[in-house]
Amino acid sequence: MNSRALYGAIEAGGTKFVCAAGHGPFEIPQDCREVIPTTTPQATLEAVVAFFERIRGQRGPLSAIGVAAFGPVDVDRRSPTWGSILATPKAGWSGVSLTRPLERFECPIAIDTDVNAAALAEALHGSGAGFAPVVYVTVGTGIGGGVALEGATIRGLLHPEMGHIRVRRDPRDQAFPGICPFHGDCLEGLASGPAIVARWNARLGELSATHPAHEIIGGYLGQLAATITLLLSAQRIVFGGGVMNGRLLPHIRAAAARELGGYLPVEERGGGFDRLIVEPELAGQVGITGAMLLAVR
Ligand code: ZN
Repeated sequence: MNSRALYGAIEAGGTKFVCAAGHGPFEIPQDCREVIPTTTPQATLEAVVAFFERIRGQRGPLSAIGVAAFGPVDVDRRSPTWGSILATPKAGWSGVSLTRPLERFECPIAIDTDVNAAALAEALHGSGAGFAPVVYVTVGTGIGGGVALEGATIRGLLHPEMGHIRVRRDPRDQAFPGICPFHGDCLEGLASGPAIVARWNARLGELSATHPAHEIIGGYLGQLAATITLLLSAQRIVFGGGVMNGRLLPHIRAAAARELGGYLPVEERGGGFDRLIVEPELAGQVGITGAMLLAVR
């Protein structure tokens, strides 16, 4: 990393775009950060460009810009639609290019999913530091996961979409059809924020501590954690996002342990499920840190 170089970072989310500039992920001056509400693509991206125009005017040219985007997004550099949001239920955003408006800054642009970028940030500077693979799972309006391994993220046919894995139904939760428009009762269809509200008419945090919802949702996410561990031999699985709270995490750990049935040496070699399944250390900064790392790299 060139310490004099100035990097741009964009955390492109469904409700807000966070823009920042600095010499590295932990060198972002106060006046080099702006939160832009996600409205129409045109208004949102115009505000993003205006932010970086101001930065360029005040501090000089950018060396690179990193974009950590909500998905699905085309992250294949050989593709003609590289940098564009793919088919999304978010009105007006399907097919919108996040990178084209940034070309005017005449610097390299890197784009990845928000969860891949978050996995990278936690792997390099957070709760996954020193471990690999590190998986970051967000549980919020949707469910998504990213994977960081040796300073890179996993991309391929598209990018990991582990929120759409199917899970075994909890016997107490047979009636609910699920809300995923593609699969019905995949993980996102059962355990995302809107799925919780659709079932119980409340957010998880609003339900009493003894409500079975915590165990049911924790059970589904625990199945995901077990699948991730079997599939990737992950050493850290970081759970973040708006649905997560301290009450849910123990249920996820217990369910993952139950699912694995003592088959993997999580206790003996991994330090136990409390070390395998953790909260983000970078908390609210994980997205912008990840985006900045994409730029620096
Ligand atoms: Zn689905």
